[in-house]
Amino acid sequence: MRRSGLLVWQILQKLKEMAVEGVSTMDLEVTAEKMMADAGAKPAFKGYYVPAAGEAFKFVLCTSVNSEIVHGMPNVKRILKEGDIVSIDTGVKLDGYYGDSAITVPIGEVSEETRKLIEVTRESLELAIDQVRPGNRLFDVCGTVEKHVRGNGFSIVREYVGHGIGTQLHEEPQVPNYVDRKNDNPRLKAGMVLAVEPMVNAGKAEAIVLKDKWTAVTKDGSNSAHFEHCIAVTENGPWVLTRP
Ligand code: MG
Ligand code: MG
Repeated sequence: MRRSGLLVWQILQKLKEMAVEGVSTMDLEVTAEKMMADAGAKPAFKGYYVPAAGEAFKFVLCTSVNSEIVHGMPNVKRILKEGDIVSIDTGVKLDGYYGDSAITVPIGEVSEETRKLIEVTRESLELAIDQVRPGNRLFDVCGTVEKHVRGNGFSIVREYVGHGIGTQLHEEPQVPNYVDRKNDNPRLKAGMVLAVEPMVNAGKAEAIVLKDKWTAVTKDGSNSAHFEHCIAVTENGPWVLTRP
C-alpha cells in the first residue's frame, strides 16, 4: 500500500504542476494514464463499475471543476481558466494493493472565499489525520472534519464519503465527513487503513448528479473542494501512505 500510495502522490504532484490556464482536463488524464502504465500499475477508477451509474467509469482521473463536487470526467473541451478550481482524484492498484488520493488546485488567482474553501478543506483533512490512532474511534475522525468545516461556515457533502481501503478500492468502514449516529463507531486498531476525503461546499450541502450519470455538482452552483489521503493506523500513530 505504501508503494501504491507514493505512486498516486507522484502523479498528483505532476498534475498539480500541469494544471494552469489553457490546459484541458483531458491533458491531465493522458499524463496520469501514462505514468500509471510506466510504473506497471493499474488505474483504480477506469473500469470500476458503479451500480448507481449502471456502468463502469471510463477514466483514470476524476476531474471536478468549480461547482462539480466529485466524479467529473476528463474532457478535451474542458479548458481550465484563471479563477477556476479543479479537484483531481485518482487511484492505482500496484502489486495487489490500492492507493487513493485527491487534491484541489486553484488556477491562477481565485476569489478570497474560494481560497479559504480550499484551505479549510485541506486543514480539515490534516486535523482528521491526527485522529487516526489506535484507541480512537471512527467518530473522532468524522467529527473532527465536521467541526472544522462547520466552524468556518462551509457545508459538508453527505452523499459521498471516505472508506476503508486495501486489496479493494472501497472497504468497510464507510468514513463520512460528519458524525452519522446511524452508523457503527468502531474503535481504530493498528493495521487498519482509512481513505479520509472531505468534500466541502462553499454554499449549501445539497448535491445533484448530472445527466451524464457521474458528475456530482452543488445544487446551488457554489464551488466545492476535495482532498483525500490514505492513512494507516499504526502503534506509533497515523501514517499517511499517499505522501512521502
Ligand atoms: Mg479518491
Ligand atoms: Mg476514495
